[in-house]
Amino acid sequence: MSLYAELHRHLGGSVVPRILWRYFQRNRPDLTQPFADYAAFEQFYTQPRKTLAEYLELHTLVESVQTQEALPYFIYRLLRGAYVFENLAYLELRYTPYLRTPDYLPQTERIDRMTEIVEIVGRASQQSEYPIMARQILCMHSRLPYEVNRAIVELAAQYPDYVCAVDMAGGDAQYGERLEEFVQLYGYARELGLNTTGHLYETPQGCYPELLPYLMRIGHGIQIPLQYPHLLPEIAARGQCLEVCPTTYLKTGTLDSLQQLRPVFDRCFDAGVDIAICTDNAGLHNVRLPFEYETLLTYDIIGFDELQRCQEVAFRHAFAWPHDHQPRSLLTGLLQEQDSVEIGVGH
Ligand SMILES: [Zn+2]
Repeated sequence: MSLYAELHRHLGGSVVPRILWRYFQRNRPDLTQPFADYAAFEQFYTQPRKTLAEYLELHTLVESVQTQEALPYFIYRLLRGAYVFENLAYLELRYTPYLRTPDYLPQTERIDRMTEIVEIVGRASQQSEYPIMARQILCMHSRLPYEVNRAIVELAAQYPDYVCAVDMAGGDAQYGERLEEFVQLYGYARELGLNTTGHLYETPQGCYPELLPYLMRIGHGIQIPLQYPHLLPEIAARGQCLEVCPTTYLKTGTLDSLQQLRPVFDRCFDAGVDIAICTDNAGLHNVRLPFEYETLLTYDIIGFDELQRCQEVAFRHAFAWPHDHQPRSLLTGLLQEQDSVEIGVGH
C-alpha cells in the first residue's frame, strides 16, 4: 500500500458532490430545488468552466454552507474519504477563514470570528479515527481588503499547531494593481517565521516575478516552465516546489489538453525543480489524488519513476510532515520485521 501527501487542496472544493448533495437534502433542501435529481446536480457541480474566475464562483456555493456549525461535518467526511479512498497520510487543507464567518457582520467582527474558525477546523482535523495528519493553510484573498489579509497572516502565526503556512488565493488576474501590498504581506509572513505558498503563474495573467522570492512553494506555477523557462534555474536554486494540479487546468480553460503538461514536467525535471502532484479541488472535480497520478501515466506525460519521485518530494516539501522519510519506509521496516519473525518461527 502506498501512502501519499496532498499539498494543495481547498476546503471549499474538497467536498465531493455526493456528500454535498446529502448535506443539502438533510439541512438545506432549498438548495436542491434547481436540480431534478442527484445526477443533474453532479453534472452542474463538476462540469468544466470557461475561465478561472467562473470556476472560482462555484466555491462560493460551498463556502456559504461551510458555516461554523457545519465545518466539523464536512471535515470528518473529508478526512475519512481521503484516508479510505485516496491513501493520504498527510493533508494540507487551505481556505480563507474570513469567508467562513457570517457575511452580515461588520468587517472587524468577522476578523475577530476567524479565530474560532481556525480552532474548529483544527479540532475537527485532529480526529483519531483515521491515521491521517492534517494541517491548515490560511489563504489571503486577492479580493479582500488589506486589513483582513494582514489579520489572516497574524492568525496563522498564533496557531502553529494547527496552521502550517499562508497562501494567496482568489484568482491571480487581479494581483497587478495590489502587487506592492501583497509583496509586503508575504514579507510580513516571512518575518513572523511562517511558511509560504501562493497561487502564482497559474494562468498567463498571473505571472508576477516580484512575488517569487517570498514563496517556499508555488501554487501551480505551470506558466514558469511553459512561458518563462529562464526562471527555472533560480526556482531550483531556492529549492521551491511547484504544486501542479492537472485536472484544474482543464476545468478552468487554462489548458486544452493534459498533453500540454508534458513540457511542464520535462523542463522542471531537467532544471532540477521539484513538482508535487495535487488535486486542488478534488470534490469539485470529482477526481481523487490516485486518479491524478494514474491519468498522468495513462497519457504518458510522466513515467513511473518520475511519478514516484513526485510522490516522494511531496513529503519533502510538506510544511509539517515530521519525519525524514515518506511512510513507505516505515511500512517496509514493519513488514520486513514481521517476515523475519515468521521465518524464524518456521526454522
Ligand atoms: Zn488552488
